[in-house]
Amino acid sequence: MIVVGAGPAGATVAAHLANAGVDTLVLEKSAFPRAKACGDGLTPRAVRELIYLGLPFAEADGWMRNRGLRVFGGGHELELPWPALASFPDFGLTLPREELDFKLARHAVRAGAQLVENVTVTGPLLDDASGRVIGVAAATPEGLREFRAPLVVAADGVSARLATAVGRLKKTNRPVGVAVRARLRLRRPPTRPGQLEWMESHLELWDGPRQEGKLMPGYGWVFPEAGGLVNVGVGSVASRAQSSKVNYRRLLSKWLDSLGPLWGFTEEDVVDQPRSAALPMAFNRGPLYARGLVLVGDAGGMVSPFDGEGIAYAMQSGRIAAGAIAQGLARPPGAGREAALRTYPELMKELLGGYFSLGRVFVKLIEHPSVMRVCTRYGLPRPTLMKLVMKLLSDLYEPRGGDWMDRTIATLARMAPAA
Ligand SMILES: Cc1cc2nc3c(=O)[nH]c(=O)nc-3n(C[C@H](O)[C@H](O)[C@H](O)COP(=O)(O)OP(=O)(O)OC[C@H]3O[C@@H](n4cnc5c(N)ncnc54)[C@H](O)[C@@H]3O)c2cc1C
Repeated sequence: MIVVGAGPAGATVAAHLANAGVDTLVLEKSAFPRAKACGDGLTPRAVRELIYLGLPFAEADGWMRNRGLRVFGGGHELELPWPALASFPDFGLTLPREELDFKLARHAVRAGAQLVENVTVTGPLLDDASGRVIGVAAATPEGLREFRAPLVVAADGVSARLATAVGRLKKTNRPVGVAVRARLRLRRPPTRPGQLEWMESHLELWDGPRQEGKLMPGYGWVFPEAGGLVNVGVGSVASRAQSSKVNYRRLLSKWLDSLGPLWGFTEEDVVDQPRSAALPMAFNRGPLYARGLVLVGDAGGMVSPFDGEGIAYAMQSGRIAAGAIAQGLARPPGAGREAALRTYPELMKELLGGYFSLGRVFVKLIEHPSVMRVCTRYGLPRPTLMKLVMKLLSDLYEPRGGDWMDRTIATLARMAPAA
């Protein structure tokens, strides 16, 4: 097995494959630890994947726990604890991606995968007769090399070089986000109760004093991290892939000014310069398996259109893909193996297709500032409604059973045509 890319998707698929006894080679273009544009926020859905992997998350190792979301908008401020569910833990975590991805990659190696860093995969090797992917070509420090295997997993992130090379192009009717983040050091202890216990989500970005200045497009977040750091970022989402004229770094800089008094920081406290990237959403590439090539994580466009979360889905897709691959490789090449491999896209569609379709509708609605304004102003003060919205937006509901909110969301997701 060849896995291209050792981000959360690649490291997870590699660890699960190695645990299943599959000979796994991971090719990664950078060397760990490496930086990545990310909010570093892990919801309970992502924590569940860490637990499936058996990766420990002790606070002594730099992980920071949080209780839920603190949402700001329309002059309101609301605390929404992560829901208590049978299917998910009830806490989230933060850890800088430099460390998270390093830990995940090391975990895959400890499980038995072979990781080779500083290797940039340049394209697939195709079987002339069938067009099937039979390996990859790569630029290594020693020069150009070819690697061959019965299957290749593309875990190469939003650039999706391998998927593109075999014609699995971006679907332009799927939402795409853009976001930029910076990391700041808090020089003073927090002034507001519980400020470090919540992941803050800001539905309005103010240019100037909060509630008085001008409203800017997009949303923002502040995710506290261990060691007196905060990850602060802004982003926006559009219902179709399109080029944006917004200067996100300027947006972030202005927002840091308006947020400063709430947190006691200034732009001088930025310790890690802004980084930005696109967020491919709602299965914007497919098929997730065909002719020897499996897509996982951002390479298959699996960021949630509701909240921009991608790590949990990258890891979930890695886990499910590994299961299908292990079953497939246990059979001789041919129809039986292909049938086992196809269970991966089928299961992903069943688990997330309806939910992502609802997300596409959600993005279309919030693209209208007036709809967003009404929802923020009249929705946020209604705690029961917001509990439902929290479950929907963070994809934290019981797929079977649960309370009336879980049942409502599960029914809607089942009714929506799978993305
Ligand atoms: C600003 C921002 C904030 C975000 N905040 C959050 C958040 O708080 N929580 C959350 O859940 N999600 C967040 N996301 C989304 C999240 O970062 C992604 O969904 C997630 O990283 C996807 O994981 P992945 O493994 O699929 O891809 P990646 O993390 O991008 O990993 C891909 C790996 O492949 C390697 N690679 C790429 N091309 C090649 C090649 N040709 N050869 C070899 N190796 C290659 C890369 O070096 C990289 O290591 C955010 C995204 C952005 C842009």
